[in-house]
Amino acid sequence: MRHLAVMDRTASSLAARAHSVLPAVSTGLLYFVAAISALTWSHGQDGIATVWPSSGILLAALLLSPWQRAGWHIGAASIASLVANLLQGNSLWTATGFTVANMMESFLAAWLLRRRSSEWISFSDPARLAEYCIAASLAAVSAATIATAFAPTPSLVFWFSWLSTDLLGILLVTPLILVVAAATMKQRIRSRARTKTEVFGIFAMVVLVCFLTFTQSTYPLLFLPMLAILVAVSRLGLLGAAGGVVIAAAVSSVAISYGSGPVMLIDASAQFKSLFVQFYLLALFAAALPMSALLAARRRLLGQLSETVRLLQLAETAANVGHWRLDIGSGVVTWSPEVFKIHGLNAETPRSLTRAIDAYHPDDRKLVTEKLDHAIQHQCGFEFTARIIRPSGEIRHVLSRGEFEKGQLHGSAGMFGIIQDITSQFIYERDLLAASALARQAANDAKLMAETDQLTGIANRRRISAELEMEIANSTKHGRPLAVAIFDIDHFKQINDRFGHHVGDEVLKRVSKDADRELRSGDMLGRFGGEEFVILFPGAGSHIALKVAERVRRIIEAGGVNPSVTVSIGVAEFAQGETAETILRRADEALYAAKADGRNMLRLAS
Ligand code: GH3
Ligand code: MG
Ligand code: MG
Repeated sequence: MRHLAVMDRTASSLAARAHSVLPAVSTGLLYFVAAISALTWSHGQDGIATVWPSSGILLAALLLSPWQRAGWHIGAASIASLVANLLQGNSLWTATGFTVANMMESFLAAWLLRRRSSEWISFSDPARLAEYCIAASLAAVSAATIATAFAPTPSLVFWFSWLSTDLLGILLVTPLILVVAAATMKQRIRSRARTKTEVFGIFAMVVLVCFLTFTQSTYPLLFLPMLAILVAVSRLGLLGAAGGVVIAAAVSSVAISYGSGPVMLIDASAQFKSLFVQFYLLALFAAALPMSALLAARRRLLGQLSETVRLLQLAETAANVGHWRLDIGSGVVTWSPEVFKIHGLNAETPRSLTRAIDAYHPDDRKLVTEKLDHAIQHQCGFEFTARIIRPSGEIRHVLSRGEFEKGQLHGSAGMFGIIQDITSQFIYERDLLAASALARQAANDAKLMAETDQLTGIANRRRISAELEMEIANSTKHGRPLAVAIFDIDHFKQINDRFGHHVGDEVLKRVSKDADRELRSGDMLGRFGGEEFVILFPGAGSHIALKVAERVRRIIEAGGVNPSVTVSIGVAEFAQGETAETILRRADEALYAAKADGRNMLRLAS
């Protein structure tokens, strides 16, 4: 068991170590292969290649891996550099010096770039791309200076040759590795280029064009690779730019080592030809990468723009709101898709103002025209609600709001605004209004029914009692006079007995109607129960009350034959401090007195 645990631990620590060492070993191997290839395939000056891809490889490794692992990568690359230099026949002193210069070069560039931001350098951002070029140049200048110090024959030519070779290596190789790494990790290639076949096909085309250009020395076809790289940039973006330039660098370097390529047309020294190719490659880089950065920025902006438009359309659909713009000069109205939807139209073409106004209900066109004319004339906003008739005949209610535009943005003055389909709100509000009117009516009816005597249509006991309470409160508060009368039909039982209940009812109706006719405008008549009625005389003392009551008595007495009836009336004047109950009791006592004294007469309560 113990053995197993120890083995386990050993295995896992070995795995952890392998995890940190393997990438560094890969960097070392790649560095070595690139260095040997560059030295073998390109015959530069004083043992220096045309392009030195190794520095680019190490820089990419330093940018991609965690900064704590930088030491591992530099260590592995140092061994690779030392061995490659020695194999190339350099002395140990020179090999060591070149190695130090190379390591310091990639380290300095990586440090400068990571100092600003821990993220990978983004080549699609023109500012970051410029930053990258500056860091690469500083690093290459420092390395060239160190290397010149160790060179077998130090010279300005050596310094310059080292600078251009290494700068090219960093500028061409690192972007390609970073772009490919980013593409593999974020799967960007798949989303941008349609298929892997497209990537392969385009690079194959670049290889073919470079091959055709550099395997001949008869025609000055150096512009051809540039055109091929432009195609690669437009199709594949950054990947096309970095990959295309690296292909051109590789093919031209190998070609020049064989003494082939359009550069041979130049009548100059080998050193000058090599320099020319380096500048040619730098020019390719300087054109392709910034262009791909600009294309990427444009694509990003277009993406953002289409996303914004999509969100606006979603918002408009969700809110039933469309936007429009009227160019006052030309009279052309531009509608958003939602405006067409509101109008029930499919075509998404600009319309003339006249046609836009024709879409409104004939009864509303005058209002729309007036509102628009006023807004244009006074350079102000407007708002109206009107009806639109769809081609299907369906009517939609819309709210339209507009603002005047002075016209700096679009050249000529215009109006900009929104149109909102408020049909559902309109119907809802209309139904709500109708429902609330109905409810109010029903409530009024119910109230009236609850307070009206069914037979005579005058106030019932409940209503007249409430009115009495109110008048007493009023009189108590303001010291206003108030009188009350109670009257009762004489011998009514006999009417019922002789003529029937139905005739009794008719008499009750007649009596209430006659009595009501004799009252003053502020007086109030109510049926208190049976054949007993109450009259309120607000603002009246006993004098007026008796006078009106007498008129009532007389009209009833004169009121009809078959059967004719009379009433006895008791009147009471309100005395400060009394209640509805006491005043009614006093009036009732007076009524009984009238009955007792022979009926068909008035009595005033004491
Ligand atoms: P008095 O002169 O003393 O008032 O004699 P009266 O016969 O009117 O006596 P009383 O007031 O006691 O009788 C009231 C009668 O009124 C009793 C009842 O049959 C009748 N009555 C009450 N309400 C109604 C009604 O709604 N319709 C009819 N037709 N008769 C009613
Ligand atoms: Mg009675
Ligand atoms: Mg009676």
